[in-house]
Amino acid sequence: MLTQNLGYPRIGSQRQLKKACEQYWAGKIDQKELKEVARKIKEDNWQTQLDAGIDLIPCNDFSFYDQVLDTSLMLGVIPQRYSPVLSQVKANSEIDLYFAMARGYQKDGLDITAMEMTKWLDTNYHYIVPEFTAGQEFRIFHENVFGEYNSAKQLLGQKAKPVLVGPVSYLLLGKEKEQGFERIDLIKKLVPVYVEIINRLKQQGTEWVQLDEPCLALDLTKKEKEAFDFAYRYIANRVSGVKLLVATYFEALLDNTELAVNLPIKALHIDLVRAPEQLDEVLALIPDHLQLSLGVVDGRNVWKNDYEKSLNLINKAIEKLGTDRVIIAPSCSLLHSPIDLDGEIAIDSEIKNWMAFAKQKLNEVSELKQIVEGNSDLLEANKKAIEGRRLSQKVHKQAVKDRVAGITEADGSRQSAFLVRQQLQHERFNLPSFPTTTIGSFPQTDDIRQLRAKFKKGELTLEQYEQAIEQATIDAIRWQEEIGLDVLVHGEFERNDMVEYFGEQLEGFLFTKNGWVQSYGSRCVKPPVIYGDVSRPEDMTVRWSKFAAAQTQKQMKGMLTGPVTILQWSFVRDDQPREVTTNQIAFAIRDEVVALEQAGIGIVQIDEAAIREGLPLRKAKRPHYLDWAVGAFRITAGGVQDRTQIHTHMCYSEFNDIIEHIAAMDADVITIETSRSQMELLQAFAHFEYPNEIGPGVYDIHSPRVPSTEEMVSLLAKAADLLPARHLWVNPDCGLKTRKWPETKAALENMVAAAKQAREQISTESVI
Ligand code: GLN
Ligand code: ZN
Repeated sequence: MLTQNLGYPRIGSQRQLKKACEQYWAGKIDQKELKEVARKIKEDNWQTQLDAGIDLIPCNDFSFYDQVLDTSLMLGVIPQRYSPVLSQVKANSEIDLYFAMARGYQKDGLDITAMEMTKWLDTNYHYIVPEFTAGQEFRIFHENVFGEYNSAKQLLGQKAKPVLVGPVSYLLLGKEKEQGFERIDLIKKLVPVYVEIINRLKQQGTEWVQLDEPCLALDLTKKEKEAFDFAYRYIANRVSGVKLLVATYFEALLDNTELAVNLPIKALHIDLVRAPEQLDEVLALIPDHLQLSLGVVDGRNVWKNDYEKSLNLINKAIEKLGTDRVIIAPSCSLLHSPIDLDGEIAIDSEIKNWMAFAKQKLNEVSELKQIVEGNSDLLEANKKAIEGRRLSQKVHKQAVKDRVAGITEADGSRQSAFLVRQQLQHERFNLPSFPTTTIGSFPQTDDIRQLRAKFKKGELTLEQYEQAIEQATIDAIRWQEEIGLDVLVHGEFERNDMVEYFGEQLEGFLFTKNGWVQSYGSRCVKPPVIYGDVSRPEDMTVRWSKFAAAQTQKQMKGMLTGPVTILQWSFVRDDQPREVTTNQIAFAIRDEVVALEQAGIGIVQIDEAAIREGLPLRKAKRPHYLDWAVGAFRITAGGVQDRTQIHTHMCYSEFNDIIEHIAAMDADVITIETSRSQMELLQAFAHFEYPNEIGPGVYDIHSPRVPSTEEMVSLLAKAADLLPARHLWVNPDCGLKTRKWPETKAALENMVAAAKQAREQISTESVI
């Protein structure tokens, strides 16, 4: 029986790659130094996997920015607009072209936009979206993979296994940059290049090639299924003496099972953490020649593997296939998990004993093999840890469980219907039509960040720190009053991050020192870990909201993060369904909303930035998700009086397919991101005749550019063509945390002017 790994984190144990890339971009180190950092990380990674006793070790899984972008460079899929970069950058520096594609290029009189970036399936990792044209050609443009394999082979010998993004997923995850063709049809032109690459790798001595085809576990059209069949037949017929391994993950194969097991390949990898139930069907249909790689160790979470559970699956497979045809593996690339738990000296040792990061997961894979081969001591030790977690007082709070178990319809309902609430709220707040507001945060300047850093280091007392934050808050309020915004915010200066801030105050969360995972390029995130039942020991935001409200006669919005967003941006428990954890968080947030109301706050915003990204990959699973996600939001909002106005905010606003669920959240006001699309995204709300109030963003906060008043008036006019003008609010797309003050001020002044003009020019009487 073999063990394998599908991919390893490449940021380096101390985020060396991030630092080196950023230094390279800033011109502080040269290409040689950058590559040296990369070489060191790769060799360390290979050595770690070798030491863990893994049989097939990935290479070419390293990337300076993103593995899909690497694939585009390898295959020569370079959008036309970068050709001037090619001729300008020094000879032999494909890496500058590569970074230009990733980040845009503004140098030497050139100004070229970056390629689009989007989430890698349902993870928080972002890849660079390949751009295809009708006449797209493919050829080996960048030879990196061959060099990678050679260096891996020197260290790992036959254990080195090159990894490629599979041809079908590569096409499906890209986009058509012009009309008149379907990118999946490019498969015929693409596969010959894969044949060439695989044959060259074979000549270099590789035994295996791993092809990642996550799309094989998604809903596929007939044509897409045919493309899989065609591609692998084409390749298999033209390469020989090399074993092809197709890796699927993040979902079950379901209706694609027959297709997948009948591909002419040597081994198939399936994700048995996400979808353990698929094993039975795969075993029922598997042909005699196929080896099966069992992804039993969770590559996307931080928990110790439950060996007994995994062994049940492994033994079932062995029974049918024999040990020779079974491979043990993590569920997916370990790219999505933090690197090493050993360095986390501050985590409570009891809880730490329930956890595993990438390095520990490799050991788990290897220990599972040893247990199958007869080492039962390893199993006993694991059982103890799993049992400890199952019974621990640190995890279980009966009162929290009871509250969630006892959810009633009433918990998720406001007292009256929207129209009744709206009337009461209008009477109470007496806002003008087209009321103006912002989404919550104001620029987090270096000064603010330094305050926090100094406070954490003990260089400032709590009193000094809070006084400085108070001053920043007061300044922001004065300034909002001056420019004439209608509903004010306190600015979120006291918050490091919209999830971390709440996690730090809720019970059931822990934070790591170094648990970084790559989000995109050099950007890494350090998600909180939810290990136990979630409760709220004390008020979390009341102190700051009350302080802010006391500084002004105007309405001050309370500002909270919603339960789905907190869940989505954390590592979550795997010992209970996600919806149970979400509901626990929902009750904690609900109590905070009520506390804000009691403190006199009339308007509370509950951000659900991540509700859309939690959507399951398979359509059939979506209704259930939307049900509990919307239900959790309704719990947070369900405890207040009719006269209290609940806002929600969402960033990415492609809502066509889920608009009825957005409406079911029943927020009094929703603010969304629509300026870049020129209000196109509002169509979904218009078609649906969205009944509540809505603030379509008129200011693109992802750019330092200051939109003019006229521009924003015309966006408002567009919005008023689509939705009743009396329902419209005026606000930016999102929070202003990442912006600088000068452009923020200029843009918001223009925005307030735009609202004033809209009040004069756009009638709010009309009914659409
Ligand atoms: N209230 C948050 C802010 O303004 C919302 C951020 C977000 O939606 N991502 O920063
Ligand atoms: Zn947002």
